[in-house]
This record gives sequence, C-alpha cells and structure tokens, in this order.
Amino acid sequence: MTTALAPSSTLSAADRCDRCGAQAYVRVTLTSGGELLFCAHHSREHAEKLRNIAITIHDETGKLEDTPAVAAEDDR
Ligand SMILES: [Zn+2]
Repeated sequence: MTTALAPSSTLSAADRCDRCGAQAYVRVTLTSGGELLFCAHHSREHAEKLRNIAITIHDETGKLEDTPAVAAEDDR
C-alpha cells in the first residue's frame, strides 16, 4: 500500500480550513489519498458529501464549546 500518513496527529492552529482559512478542526482523509481541512462550520456544511468520499474523518470540533461566528484570536 502507501506510505505512512501520520494517522492520528492532532490538528493545530497552523491547520486552516480549505474553504475560509479559519482554524481547522476537522481533517478528512479521502479515498483518493488526499486530505482536506475544514473548520467546524464548513465540516458541518459538507458533512454529507464528505461521508461519501472520505476514508476517515478526524473531528476535533468537540474542543469547541461555544463557537464564535468568526475565527477567534487565542486570548484564553
Ligand atoms: Zn471554513
């Protein structure tokens, strides 16, 4: 098969949503071997489609309790 993709590395602040550039909380590994990153908002928006094309969906949206409308600065 293919090379080692670090299977369960967590997402960091450097990971950005492919759609809007906000911090990514969901990483989707595609059947094609590619990867997509989504923020909580866009992962929800595309969830149905993603289920059809994804091998794994690594979801860290549980980290978000209250989701601000915009990308918050890390001021916590
Ligand atoms: Zn987004």
